[in-house]
Amino acid sequence: MISKLPLPEYEYAMPKPDADFVRRAIVYKLIFILGVDPRNATPQEWLNAAMFAARDLVTESFLKTRRSHEDHGKRMVYYLSMEFLMGRSFVNSLINEGVYDVFNEAFEQLGLDFADVCEQEEDPGLGNGGLGRLAACFLDSMATLRIPAVGYGIRYQYGMFKQEIVDGQQIEKPDLWLDHDMQWQFARPAKRYPVSFGGRVCGSGSIKYWEPAEHITALAYDEVIPGYGGNVANPLRLWTAHAGDTFDLANFNQGDYFAAMRGQTQDENISRVLYPNDSTDSGRELRLKQEYFLVSASIQDIIARHKCRFHNLKNLADKVVIHLNDTHPVLAIPELMRILVDEESMDWEEAWGISCRVFSYTNHTLMSEALETWPVDLMGRLLPRHLDIIFEINEQFLDALRAIGKTDPNLIRRVSIIDEENGRRVRMAWLAVVGSHRVNGVAKIHSDLMKTSIFADFAKIFPDRFTNVTNGVTPRRWIAVANRPLTKFLDKTLGEQDWRLHLDHLAKLNGLADDPEVQAEFAEVKQANKQRLADYIEKELGIKVNPQAMFDVQIKRIHEYKRQALNVMHIIDRYNKILENPDANWQPRVFIFAGKAASAYVAAKRIIRLINDVAAVINNDKRIRDLIKVVFIPNYSVSLAQIIIPAADLSEQISLAGTEASGTGNMKFALNGALTIGTLDGANVEILEKVGEDNIFIFGNTVEQVEALRREGYDPFVYLEQDSDLRRVIKQVSTGTFSPEEHSRYSNVMHGFGDYYQLAADFRSYIEAQERADKHYSNPAKWRRSALINIANMGYFSSDRSIQDYCKNIWFIEPLSEAELPSENP
Ligand SMILES: *Cc1c(COP(=O)(O)O)cnc(C)c1O
Repeated sequence: MISKLPLPEYEYAMPKPDADFVRRAIVYKLIFILGVDPRNATPQEWLNAAMFAARDLVTESFLKTRRSHEDHGKRMVYYLSMEFLMGRSFVNSLINEGVYDVFNEAFEQLGLDFADVCEQEEDPGLGNGGLGRLAACFLDSMATLRIPAVGYGIRYQYGMFKQEIVDGQQIEKPDLWLDHDMQWQFARPAKRYPVSFGGRVCGSGSIKYWEPAEHITALAYDEVIPGYGGNVANPLRLWTAHAGDTFDLANFNQGDYFAAMRGQTQDENISRVLYPNDSTDSGRELRLKQEYFLVSASIQDIIARHKCRFHNLKNLADKVVIHLNDTHPVLAIPELMRILVDEESMDWEEAWGISCRVFSYTNHTLMSEALETWPVDLMGRLLPRHLDIIFEINEQFLDALRAIGKTDPNLIRRVSIIDEENGRRVRMAWLAVVGSHRVNGVAKIHSDLMKTSIFADFAKIFPDRFTNVTNGVTPRRWIAVANRPLTKFLDKTLGEQDWRLHLDHLAKLNGLADDPEVQAEFAEVKQANKQRLADYIEKELGIKVNPQAMFDVQIKRIHEYKRQALNVMHIIDRYNKILENPDANWQPRVFIFAGKAASAYVAAKRIIRLINDVAAVINNDKRIRDLIKVVFIPNYSVSLAQIIIPAADLSEQISLAGTEASGTGNMKFALNGALTIGTLDGANVEILEKVGEDNIFIFGNTVEQVEALRREGYDPFVYLEQDSDLRRVIKQVSTGTFSPEEHSRYSNVMHGFGDYYQLAADFRSYIEAQERADKHYSNPAKWRRSALINIANMGYFSSDRSIQDYCKNIWFIEPLSEAELPSENP
């Protein structure tokens, strides 16, 4: 039904809110939406009421943005991702809408603690780590830059597990994030699409169609993503599986209610839980179903939107780009082909031409063990028509190669989308490369390596297809929300120019980095953040840490390649040397760790235990006199990152060169004035370029050296023999110095010391870099100068710049112009 009414005649145009208006709105929501008497309301209920009030403020720009997209026929980008690690939305939205202070004041008027109310919000953990957080930063930037964009993901009922540490070990608890707040999302019960599985392929020749055996329903929820400045708000559309339409009436009518429900529960499992793995879970049928569920619902929705705007599909590639965040949503390619060819009767060549122009793909890892593949059998059983289409795509691709003289059977075997050797598997990354017009890596070094390692053959076949977009992070979340003291400092120091929109303006700090007054103010900012974290640690863990000590931080997923164990080896070596030489001028340090291990990843869980075991021994050793404190803060999440990162002095980015595609944690730290100690890996390389070698501690082997060692047969015992400190550390761990109640707990550290990630090779160089860091820190003026220079040169790492790169080189998308912007009050 199309009404001709212009928006204002719906009479929901909001007045510019002041504290009085906001206070009344919150109380109104509390009483009339939640049905709660203000006299008895809990902080949680106040939060819910405030979120409803805040949502009203963004809804107007949200609806107007959608109208702008419809009316101006803009080319749109649809960002498909299995993960969106959004973090809390309340404060972020207030800041983006420019009403933070007004809400703060409203709560003051109500006599309530605003900070406490904000703390009530659950952290929607719909992602594992960097990949999901990148998607969240990108949504913020796309809305801020007025890019016509929609995000698509899954509304997992249980997000990332909650981590508890019991006896030094990780325990996983379910994340019930939906129990409390669902205020922010608009349910769209009318937006429902069938998603099918199984069955068989019918027809023959060029006329084929799928007769599925099973159908479930995808229902939409829209989360509003307000851009900074309050003009534009884009949707993040999250799908939930609903079995309502498949209720087994036969069973029900025979009185077996529970049998009728059972099928329903099975179907709804599809959106039940996020796989808690930061690489892949290939081989798990439910995961493949999830991926197809996301893809099928989203592609149907994209096509419906497109038809609504243009009434035909011929111009699809002119108006639509679909971005695949890693290979997880790559089934979108055969799904679009299926719809175009089978349902819309387009011929294959035309459909394929459109499809290739529509899709683009970001690669997130070079580690071959993390590349997603699916058994042909499984895919044939769940998605027979899609498998058919993949075979056809592959055949045509290989035929085209042979036609231009590339007939080497080894090459054909290597680039075939079907891996014929490992029990026949579909190589999802290959399908993504063949079916996309652009493939990008996420940092310069990663994009270069991509072309010489995993995609070397493809880079020769499609030389123009490969490109780089270095990742970025949003300064709204990672400064304005996370670091209020730094926000005030920057506003005061930089004056008029809004760094939130133009992060390059931070460069002005380069000229002020030596100014004693500026340094003193910055020191206060850092100290306030360190005190806040120290308080948090004492409250949560009962450990007192010295806020004057250097805060040395490594927070990220626990993974062997990220080498938290190398960090631990330095701590132990330092412990040994303090005991040997207690009167030397030691720099007190607090070593802070946080991060989750995938629940089935035994080696990563052992690293968590080792950190906690080492902490227990060192923290309680009186001889150390608090020169070292080690803390593992449980349940790493966006909200926890927001507390820890602003307080960091030293940022540990110590992955083995060639393993971390980009990293974004490294950017957040530098942006908040921490100095990096890191390898020449991922975006560290570009951070070094920006801040200069005097303001970062680089160590370790380069990618070339790592590869040479691998080629020549890496042997960790060579280093153990040469280095008595290293030998001592390994011996202590493996003989139980840090696990006195169970001496053999880490005995395999010595025996099965394969050391795949070459910790031994980088140990000495790491220790020397740590010594440089100590020396630098002992001169506060010098350290502060370096910290300010780090902040000053982070402009490049704004996700706004990343999104502009995507728009220019990959998506060919223009922002809404001033004239096309949703109007204030026409
Ligand atoms: C930024 C971020 C990550 C990614 O950190 P890396 O150090 O780049 O691995 C993971 N989890 C959360 C919660 C984050 O905010």
